[in-house]
Amino acid sequence: MRKLCILGATGSIGLSTLAVVRENPQAFRVAALTAHSNVEKMFELCLEFHPDQVVMVDAQAAATLARQLQQAQPHCVTEVLSGRDGLQQVAAASVSDTVMAAIVGGAGLAPTLAAVNAGKRVLLANKEALVMSGQLFMDAARQSGAEILPVDSEHNAIFQCLPRETQQLGSCELAEAGIEKIILTGSGGPFRELPLAELATQTPAAACAHPNWEMGQKISVDSATMMNKGLEYIEARWLFNCQQHQLQVVLHPQSVIHSMVSYTDGSVLAQMGRPDMRTPIAHCLSFPERIHSGVEPLDFMALQNLTFAEAEAARYPCLALAIDACWRGQWATTALNAANEVAVARFLAEGIGFTDIARVCQHVVTTLEADYSALSLNSIDAILSLDEHARQCANEFIEQTITC
Ligand code: NAD
Ligand code: MG
Repeated sequence: MRKLCILGATGSIGLSTLAVVRENPQAFRVAALTAHSNVEKMFELCLEFHPDQVVMVDAQAAATLARQLQQAQPHCVTEVLSGRDGLQQVAAASVSDTVMAAIVGGAGLAPTLAAVNAGKRVLLANKEALVMSGQLFMDAARQSGAEILPVDSEHNAIFQCLPRETQQLGSCELAEAGIEKIILTGSGGPFRELPLAELATQTPAAACAHPNWEMGQKISVDSATMMNKGLEYIEARWLFNCQQHQLQVVLHPQSVIHSMVSYTDGSVLAQMGRPDMRTPIAHCLSFPERIHSGVEPLDFMALQNLTFAEAEAARYPCLALAIDACWRGQWATTALNAANEVAVARFLAEGIGFTDIARVCQHVVTTLEADYSALSLNSIDAILSLDEHARQCANEFIEQTITC
């Protein structure tokens, strides 16, 4: 029986993970759950799953939860912790052997690394953590013996299409395995066919209305700008040890093919399925075995055409910025990720327009280049300090240029 810790349990991926656990109660025990501040949801989850440990990052939320649990179940054994230290503590604690890393954004870096350093099986949904820390993250996994498995549907698809001996994340030898290219597919989001002139006035609600996937708000906006595909490009580079000529992005609006691996003999292996994250989550939870995820199989008779296209540069400037940052160095991807997080949060709060997101990202990377491009970011502290500087720079640009 696997003992599971879910970082970000109240979010879209966290709840989908618990849905897969519900399908397989004999295979998993929920040992620890974390969330930022959603007490109501966490209370429900505690009554259902009886975890040993719970973290609410927000101290007031932690106090409320502890009180509610005590009232509802006087003999409740769940320990309630709070703060960012609490996250790292439970991520590393021996109550779990498997950690689902599903916090959104840079806030997930420290707890995810704590799980990696503790040598656990880490199911990686929190792509921002890897984008921020790249080589350091993969080195930490190698040193501790942690087993990283990709939850992101594209990377999970690629992983499934790799030969068994090439599934060595961080040190895959693609060329030796006869692999020419890894092809990341992306739907193009809700604005794929919108006249370009209308992009600037799109609202957060429109950006979050993804045609195929139901996800948290941040990744939904990232999907509309295709920054999500850009972050995934960087994620793929680290997970699969890719060189530039080995990575390609292709638009595939139906989200049936989740990504592909193209081999030298002309074979292309694709992983297909419904656009439902319970499939890659179940794959990671049970790898190398297979379990029920609760997802219906694809109905080929009901499928419409599968189509493919190139992502238009004018529509998706964030994708080009991310691909460029990927090959410029760690400083560029850390800066880009931080700028994007600030810009998306401001867009969601209706403080800036949709097309301002790319402007903020471009400005921050250009501004930080002089100070950081020659530095080697060889510690987490160095990465976090750049991350903070990039967030400041993004906020200043928004105050001085966009909202003034
Ligand atoms: P979400 O917004 O639905 O949930 C985020 C979770 O993180 C919540 O439990 C929240 O309480 C917690 N959280 C938020 N801020 C926090 C903070 N500062 N400190 C600690 N915890 C915090 O997000 P999501 O859509 O589930 O995405 C989670 C991660 O998975 C993201 O990195 C996303 O890119 C990745 N991912 C999501 C999907 C998807 O379908 N939703 C698919 C692939 C990858
Ligand atoms: Mg994805």
